[in-house]
Amino acid sequence: MEKKELVCIVCPMGCRLTVTKENDNYVVTGNQCPRGKDYGIKELTNPTRVLTTTVKIKNGLLNRIPVKTKEPIPKDKIFECMDVINRIEIEAPVKVGDIVVENVLETGVDVVASRSMSKIG
Ligand code: SF4
Repeated sequence: MEKKELVCIVCPMGCRLTVTKENDNYVVTGNQCPRGKDYGIKELTNPTRVLTTTVKIKNGLLNRIPVKTKEPIPKDKIFECMDVINRIEIEAPVKVGDIVVENVLETGVDVVASRSMSKIG
């Protein structure tokens, strides 16, 4: 029997969950809503996160622009994804939602700009 205790991060309530795996069955307790059950099971089977960070930008108002993965990506790919993002530099102008890295690490998820930035000069 596998047992894990974790805090649900789906909403600010922060329920303390206990996820127990018996045979191939997952049982979640401590959740105050069904989203906590889904989160608890996913954390044990395929934990994912939305990555938010910044990327270098040329000719913009600032030197870096905030970006994020459009969807959650597997947690074990976060550092590799940061390596990809740290190696690139984009050029202004950029509109919020523009794709910065398409299908990052073959996850099927794009990295997109979280804000717009116009070109200076
Ligand atoms: S279990 Fe439901 S109520 Fe509790 S933190 Fe998660 S999403 Fe919020």
